[in-house]
Amino acid sequence: MTYQSGWVTDDVRMFRTSVRQFIQKELVPQQARWREQQRPDAEAWTAAGAAGMLLPDVPDTFGGGGGTFAHTAVVLEELTQAGVHFGFSIQNIVAHYLLAYGSDAQKCRWLPRMARGDLVGAIAMSEPAAGSDLQGIRATARRVGDCYVINGSKTFITNGWHAGLVCLAVKTDPAVAGWKGISLIFVETKDLPGYRVGGALDKIGMHGQDTCELFFDDVRVPAANLLGGAEGKGFSQMMERLPYERLTVAVGAVAAAEHAVSITTKYVKERTAFGKPLLDLQNTRFTLAACKTQAQIGRVFVDNCIERFVAGQLDDVSTAMAKYWLTECQCRVIDDCLQLHGGYGYMTEYPIARMWADSRVQRIYAGTNEIMKELIAWSL
Ligand SMILES: Cc1cc2nc3c(=O)[nH]c(=O)nc-3n(C[C@H](O)[C@H](O)[C@H](O)COP(=O)(O)OP(=O)(O)OC[C@H]3O[C@@H](n4cnc5c(N)ncnc54)[C@H](O)[C@@H]3O)c2cc1C
Repeated sequence: MTYQSGWVTDDVRMFRTSVRQFIQKELVPQQARWREQQRPDAEAWTAAGAAGMLLPDVPDTFGGGGGTFAHTAVVLEELTQAGVHFGFSIQNIVAHYLLAYGSDAQKCRWLPRMARGDLVGAIAMSEPAAGSDLQGIRATARRVGDCYVINGSKTFITNGWHAGLVCLAVKTDPAVAGWKGISLIFVETKDLPGYRVGGALDKIGMHGQDTCELFFDDVRVPAANLLGGAEGKGFSQMMERLPYERLTVAVGAVAAAEHAVSITTKYVKERTAFGKPLLDLQNTRFTLAACKTQAQIGRVFVDNCIERFVAGQLDDVSTAMAKYWLTECQCRVIDDCLQLHGGYGYMTEYPIARMWADSRVQRIYAGTNEIMKELIAWSL
């Protein structure tokens, strides 16, 4: 009997069927165009909302799917296997900042619109001079009466083009050094004076995903948009929520490795060399056997993480291990699979070529893998 993921219940399986149908029918046919324009269509967000694909693990009282992280994992896996880059994951992450720390008024104002896809979320932490070291954030928010006045810039922001709601990391107290003066403030960007989105950043992969710089020039937002009720909580909020983001990256990593093995197995059965299918060559068989083994080890590990997360028992060190090891595994497997495609593996027309370029960033964002090793090492 082949291995089955324990967290995939009948309900989750049914959800997967509807998500897969939606992705194949509505999103896959748009991919070449999205890559060209360097962002998804705005309509894709509302279509995904109408299909019930957004915020699957947010309570239905706020418009979400009312499911668990298992439902979120399904969407991540299906998007990965379909080769669709759509900022679903970030939308969900932003929603979970609101769920964890937002006031009732903030949750009611934004979550239902995010679930419908009317409002696209982004999380803006990184700055030109502050990536791994978030204590170096320089963007500021100064309290003036009932408002915050925001100045500064952010870079590498996923969903940047479409974002109507930015969860923004700022210094509310620039006089306090390090993490203490950092806060998270929600910024509604529509028609907002002083707010500007830069052009799409030219990446080596994930071309259909909008990744942009954001600029804030005396931008005024209501003081009520502060997250968590008091200033100075931003750094600990990010540290508490980043493991969720890392788990989503790990889930995508395993799905990508599995998909690479699957499409490469098909390819080497069809392609011939020296009068026989590539699969008849021992090197091909051994390479794919090793890749399939690594993908399955990854699967068992990530399944364990998903189950523990759903049960509220996943620790941050295991999440860091999953993000680090599974994304390294993803890149190794995809690189080996690309090699088995020969020159065609280098052609962007072939999915394996795009997967190779797309996968590289997995070792960088959501905390680099070097930072993951630091986190793991603290537990030694
Ligand atoms: C496609 C893409 C999408 C992204 N989306 C978002 C987003 O939506 N929101 C957001 O806020 N950010 C986003 N990021 C930014 C991403 O999180 C950062 O790039 C990442 O955290 C690394 O920061 P940095 O690029 O400044 O690299 P740096 O911090 O300058 O790191 C450079 C190198 O030094 C290493 N290094 C740094 N510190 C240490 C240390 N203590 N020990 C060992 N090695 C170390 C790093 O591992 C890395 O190899 C995105 C990035 C990309 C490429």
